[in-house]
Amino acid sequence: QARHQGHGHAIYTGGRDRECAQRLALIGDLHRAIDQGQMRLYCQPKVRFSNGAVCGVEALVRWEHPQRGTLWPSDFIGLAEHSGLISPLTDWVMQAAFRQSYVWRESGLIMPVAVNLSARDLRDPKLIERVRNHFATWGVDPESVQFELTESALMQDPQGSYDSLRRLKDLGSDLFIDDFGTGYSSLAYLQKLPVDAIKIDKSFVEDMLSNSDSAVIVRSTIDLAHDLDLEVVAEGVENRAGWEHLSAQGCDVAQGYIISEPLLAESFAKWKWVGTADP
Ligand code: C2E
Ligand code: CA
Ligand code: CA
Ligand code: CA
Repeated sequence: QARHQGHGHAIYTGGRDRECAQRLALIGDLHRAIDQGQMRLYCQPKVRFSNGAVCGVEALVRWEHPQRGTLWPSDFIGLAEHSGLISPLTDWVMQAAFRQSYVWRESGLIMPVAVNLSARDLRDPKLIERVRNHFATWGVDPESVQFELTESALMQDPQGSYDSLRRLKDLGSDLFIDDFGTGYSSLAYLQKLPVDAIKIDKSFVEDMLSNSDSAVIVRSTIDLAHDLDLEVVAEGVENRAGWEHLSAQGCDVAQGYIISEPLLAESFAKWKWVGTADP
């Protein structure tokens, strides 16, 4: 491919080509990774402020790359979204999460599971059929499943999102708006969607004790969500001060390192929540 550029540009283009080649290689790897069992399911518990009980887990994916080691979602979710691989990835996560909840159920542990869906999943006319099939395979009670959809994914196609959410909701599952506060939508608009809860983005939770703007956003989000009859989950709760602050504001559910890092799903049953008391 001929390029007519100055020297500086040629170097820049070389860098870009290399970056591009690396991305292409990773896309090829990702294709095989799902089939070759390199994906790992992690789950992170959520705790209800009112009674201190674990009320569910969020399914989070990791990629055990044979050469590069553990890759985090930020390394490959975007890539998967732009290369048509997000559907197989979401399918992998759903089967792994529902299989895990089946194993827990067999041992007497009833644990709601939240699965992240991407904008592409929402646009897929086959989404409901895919979800139904996974439910059927593992005998899942749809009411024990939550789907998390980012605010920005919903805003990409408001009408299409509404229809997909309606159909997911009709299955009986709960719907959460993820990363709330980062998508420049209004809660009034989002309230028209058939959603049950919002998750305040961790960027606001991290900042709320040191930045008064973030504190105002957190407080007003909780109040407005409650006025609209929505539950509020705070993500990224890392310390006791944050926990106390959110509890005092009436936040419903916490997720974050103060409770636990995401755990390998197979290890979760052995984990015990001991409360927020300082060690
Ligand atoms: P998210 O849905 O907002 O997930 C929460 C992220 O915050 C997770 O990062 C989690 O490990 C991290 N986290 C949890 N507690 C704390 C804390 O106390 N402090 C801080 N600083 N971070 C905390 P992770 O696992 O790297 O996932 C990043 C994002 O990748 C997720 O953000 C989600 O949008 C996406 N993702 C992860 N798994 C999946 C998946 O299976 N499908 C899709 N479509 N997206 C996924
Ligand atoms: Ca999420
Ligand atoms: Ca987030
Ligand atoms: Ca409601």
